[in-house]
Amino acid sequence: MIYLDYQATTPLAPEARDAMLRWLDGPDGVGFGNPHSPHRYGRQAAAAVELARDRVAALFPPGGTVIFTSCATEAINLAIRGCKPVRAGRGIAASAIEHAAVWDTAEALPNAFHPIAVDREGLVDPAAELPADVGLVAVMQVNNEIGTIQPVAEIARTAKAAGALLLCDAVQAAGRIPIAMADMIAISAHKLHGPKGIGALWVRDGLTLEPLITGGGQEGGLRSGTLSPALCAGFGAAAKLAAERMEPDAAHIEALWTRARDLFDGWTLNGSETARWHGNLNLRQEGLDVARLLSDVRDVAISAGSACASGSGKPSRVLQAIGLSDKMAKNSIRIGFGRYTGMDDLELAAAAINAAARTQGL
Ligand code: PLP
Repeated sequence: MIYLDYQATTPLAPEARDAMLRWLDGPDGVGFGNPHSPHRYGRQAAAAVELARDRVAALFPPGGTVIFTSCATEAINLAIRGCKPVRAGRGIAASAIEHAAVWDTAEALPNAFHPIAVDREGLVDPAAELPADVGLVAVMQVNNEIGTIQPVAEIARTAKAAGALLLCDAVQAAGRIPIAMADMIAISAHKLHGPKGIGALWVRDGLTLEPLITGGGQEGGLRSGTLSPALCAGFGAAAKLAAERMEPDAAHIEALWTRARDLFDGWTLNGSETARWHGNLNLRQEGLDVARLLSDVRDVAISAGSACASGSGKPSRVLQAIGLSDKMAKNSIRIGFGRYTGMDDLELAAAAINAAARTQGL
């Protein structure tokens, strides 16, 4: 089986796994401590959590605090539902290609919701004017379906000029490229070779939020509930590794991208070629029956769109937003590769995918 679905999730780094084991059992038998307990078991676990927090914080710009959550979806909910402008009833503007964690949350609220259009490349125009009532702007750094990289620094200036906060979903950027500055930033461990079940919200210093989960007052009162030292340690180890390997990983992925563009010569790329994370290849061929192709290449794990949307039968909102017809959107596949993808894996997978497309007369 060849895994080429790195936008859905990434393989756990061995270093992250090792870091976690110590806090599941541990050679000295104290790995199970509650990090919020005052005795030695608790203090040791708390030290592991704080080391992990520092390692995760190092991925972000300086000047903020990392709050651990169960996933990026929870972090995004805390940012949107917990920030002052939204609680005061001001409008929310979000790019048309945001992940459902942002989109559905903004839509579910009674506040006015203003989608921000993207162009055919999948990019937001940072100079586009914001409606006067907007108090929160949400723009992701790297898109999960088409990999496009938004001009977040410029969008931040526009949001600030409009007196709005900026939330950046950096889930697909974290550990791959430097995270852009925003007021609130959400990331997820499992997208950067850490464990599932933990994410983080970074909050700029000086900004206050209302908690969504109340109880024991953990995470500075913003997210009650006992933290898992194992998940935190795995997240921290994965973040540290990603920071150390950012350049070599990017070089490896660039080599895979260059080869992939040759291997998938007859396909059309969805989204910008250049303003893009090159570990994401979203391709289409007119007339392609994607369900048939996926069943013909069962030994290669790729996606028909975003993992969340695929299976719903609905054409991808992201592909529609860049101007694809429903038919063209349904002719698209997403191939994602990364740190642990070998060149030979990519070549074998491309041969299988191209052969399957040919059996459809393409
Ligand atoms: N945002 C983006 C861009 C994603 O790709 C994902 C996961 O698919 C999420 C948010 C949600 O992350 P999590 O699985 O940690 O809730």
